[in-house]
Amino acid sequence: MHFFSTKRVAKEVNFKEAIFKGLPEDNGLYMPERIEVLSKSFFDALPNLTLPEIAFEMSRNIIDGEITDADLISIVNDAFDFPAPAIHVHDQVHVLELFHGPTLAFKDFGARFMARVMGHFLKNEDQEITILVATSGDTGSAVAQGFYGVEGVNVVLLYPKGKVSKIQEQQLTTIGGNVTALEVDGVFDDCQSMVKQAFLDGSLKKSINLSSANSINIARLLPQSFYYAYAHGQIAEPGEEIYFCTPSGNFGNLAAGIIAKKMGLPVRKFIAATNVNDVVPEYLQTALFNPRPSIATISNAMDVGNPSNFPRIQELFGKDFEYIVANIEGVHYTDGETRLIIKQVFDEYHYVMCPHTAIGYQGLVDTMEKYKFQGKGVYLSTASPAKFGNVVEPVIHRKVEIPERLQKIINRPKHAIEMSTDYEAFREYLLSR
Ligand SMILES: *Cc1c(COP(=O)(O)O)cnc(C)c1O
Repeated sequence: MHFFSTKRVAKEVNFKEAIFKGLPEDNGLYMPERIEVLSKSFFDALPNLTLPEIAFEMSRNIIDGEITDADLISIVNDAFDFPAPAIHVHDQVHVLELFHGPTLAFKDFGARFMARVMGHFLKNEDQEITILVATSGDTGSAVAQGFYGVEGVNVVLLYPKGKVSKIQEQQLTTIGGNVTALEVDGVFDDCQSMVKQAFLDGSLKKSINLSSANSINIARLLPQSFYYAYAHGQIAEPGEEIYFCTPSGNFGNLAAGIIAKKMGLPVRKFIAATNVNDVVPEYLQTALFNPRPSIATISNAMDVGNPSNFPRIQELFGKDFEYIVANIEGVHYTDGETRLIIKQVFDEYHYVMCPHTAIGYQGLVDTMEKYKFQGKGVYLSTASPAKFGNVVEPVIHRKVEIPERLQKIINRPKHAIEMSTDYEAFREYLLSR
């Protein structure tokens, strides 16, 4: 399979090149040149297929021979070894819980798949790579957990000292093995500029093989399409058209849903649900894409003012605005509304949601109501409420239970190397490892 850049200046590459480069030179985004429709027998069988079985068929459709079937089967079995249940909430409303992986958020799906695919390609190459990640919290821990124990890969995480939550810091600093955490005496932007400088440092790159695990990597996006099909199989009949509502920030998760539809998944409508950072819902209303600085909210993983995957969504619909609005409905909610949703759903249905998930719930319910849709709907739960106890507990007046695997992390000793924001010191450190 060839992958082209959405800016169409950079040359086409194969899958392996697309994942190791991450970004094309022209700063576009890699996209597969075609997305084949899968067979009717695959969709008929969905209710009986496991997530790894679905992942195998859908990824093979895109990877197109660059990884053998046997290797792909072991990659998907290893990557998706935790549940992703679609649960009935009320009436025709269902929630797809994507928070049962190691870091309790959906980014585990993308990070674990990408890590195993990279590990696979490196296995026969007798070379090591070092993945540099600057993180303000969650993405870094999903990536680091994803790469934990993957041979041929070292991960160096940079996080700002005192600027991440206690749980996040424990998630970043207690992994060990091939993952090293650097506690930088600065802010997130310092971490990011140190990483950027390293990538521009030609002589450093002669000594070590640097790579990134950016969220726009096609190998992180692709696996997010698998669970849309898995959810469909759990709640709907073969061929039945349903609604999906995706709480969105950079719009990778929604783009992945559209890829699933392009492969033939019966989806009547996608709902793009945001907080007040509503650049995409506004675009769907006005046809004007107006990126702007983000505003801080309680659903902070969606505080994005310039959604990086937006060009992919345009590309998937042939840049046809009418076609886009026929497929995607946009909704947005304030923090006040989000708190109220969390409270109402807890009071009425005893279901506890993180703030991102709450926006997904209301987006689904409001849109089903608007179109008097009688079919089934699924909203994606992107994180466990346990990660957002500070928001959720005061709203529902109850403690949110911390899952055992998170509890374990909280008690583990922290290992981090302290570092100043001085690039030379960082460079020295990388060379001395
Ligand atoms: C990353 C994230 C989102 C947003 O996902 P995108 O793919 O960037 O749209 C939503 N919720 C949570 C909890 C996240 O971590």
